[in-house]
Amino acid sequence: MTMLTLLAALAGCSGSEPPRPPDILLVVLDTVRADHLAVYGHSRDNSRQLAALAQAGVLFEDVTAPGAWTWPSHASLFTGLPPWQHGAHQNPEVLITASETAWSKDKLDPELPTLAEQLAAAGYRTEAHATNDLLAPELGLTRGFAVAKTYDNDVETVAAARAALQVDDPRPLLLFVNLLNAHAPYTVAEKIPFAAQHQATLEAPPAWLAPMVRTESEGALSVDPDQHVGETGVRADMAWHAGQLDIPEEGLALLRDLYDSDLVGLDLGLKELLDAWIGSGRSREVVAVTSDHGEYFGEHRLLQHCCTTYTPVLGVPLVLAAPGRIPAGLRLSDPVQLQDLHPTLLELAGVVTERPARSLLRPIEGEPLAGPIQARAWRSVRWAQQAGGLYTDSYRYHREGERVVVVPDAGVPQLYDLSADPMMLQDIAPQHPEEAAAMAERARASIVDRESTGMLMALDDETIQKLREMGYID
Ligand SMILES: [Zn+2]
Repeated sequence: MTMLTLLAALAGCSGSEPPRPPDILLVVLDTVRADHLAVYGHSRDNSRQLAALAQAGVLFEDVTAPGAWTWPSHASLFTGLPPWQHGAHQNPEVLITASETAWSKDKLDPELPTLAEQLAAAGYRTEAHATNDLLAPELGLTRGFAVAKTYDNDVETVAAARAALQVDDPRPLLLFVNLLNAHAPYTVAEKIPFAAQHQATLEAPPAWLAPMVRTESEGALSVDPDQHVGETGVRADMAWHAGQLDIPEEGLALLRDLYDSDLVGLDLGLKELLDAWIGSGRSREVVAVTSDHGEYFGEHRLLQHCCTTYTPVLGVPLVLAAPGRIPAGLRLSDPVQLQDLHPTLLELAGVVTERPARSLLRPIEGEPLAGPIQARAWRSVRWAQQAGGLYTDSYRYHREGERVVVVPDAGVPQLYDLSADPMMLQDIAPQHPEEAAAMAERARASIVDRESTGMLMALDDETIQKLREMGYID
């Protein structure tokens, strides 16, 4: 046997046969804002797994989600398209009422091909395991996955994902996993000092905190801004925005502490998953870890995430490892978008013949991606009824270089300079009115809503209850 044929045999291919497509692990750490992770410069030690993965691959420092919540962002990740093109968002012009038996949202366009469909057509085995119930198969986001299931918590989700790694099947694998530990409610982890210090405060909460404290099924206390203030029916986060609830600065610090501690828990879940991935002999395969959106902790007097387009909710992490295909230990500052992962994974799987325009392999090889960075968020009539002035407008986010314009459908455009103000706290449009107006015009011209794809779904009681617990249904 010559050296060449030996190498071909070792690589599992013989001469003319193409190499076996890689197994792909795609993980969404739901609700993780990049700047709250140690690997992105945060002071808390909460992202060891991402740091280790970054050493084996590429960390993207500047990643923008195209939407501000689970539904539009996951649909973008699965289709490579922004929310105004794929349809899965919240269009306030159609039904947005939720009741005991039905839930309505605009759905993902059923004609659009998804990552799972495209890889399945190329011979992949496809499985999706998620904790977030918006990924329940009957809602349509996981279309194309042969196996798609949701679970009550991340422990169950990780266990199911690990089981998928043990299946004896010759086909390449696409394994999608969504973990939800960072999503509210924020919990008190006993073993994490910066979280445990707040236990006594939760047990005897001050007036600002009392409406948000809830007792989990196992008896532990947590903090949830979805909880209503007294008998008002108004969520605590919206009451605070409207000035009906006073959350002091130390209250915001408490929320951040508990969130940071939930990120530690998330990192431990990721460790179990990556250990199993490597333990199953897949250390040379493709792994991508990202998030669908971030979370507010007081910026613009907002909490949680929903219907706006500032950095705390759009800035997400992204680490991609593909040993042998992309370099190890690289940190890239090029601005990229969450949905760029879609064409990138198609390219790494070998199912496209030409390099896609938005493949992340371009910046990895030194070629900048062209075009603006964009996002969109739609107003919420249902929630706007709760808090005066909040979520009554929809927004276009359009970034060129370090300048971002935020264009409300009805209000006055805002302008931000990310180089001086990365979290977008200081509107400089009054000092640069012509620049803001010109960018706003380009935003309106290029971010164009498609027709509504509204749907009204009958859901079972359990799904309704889970969506209610997550704050999607009042
Ligand atoms: Zn989410």
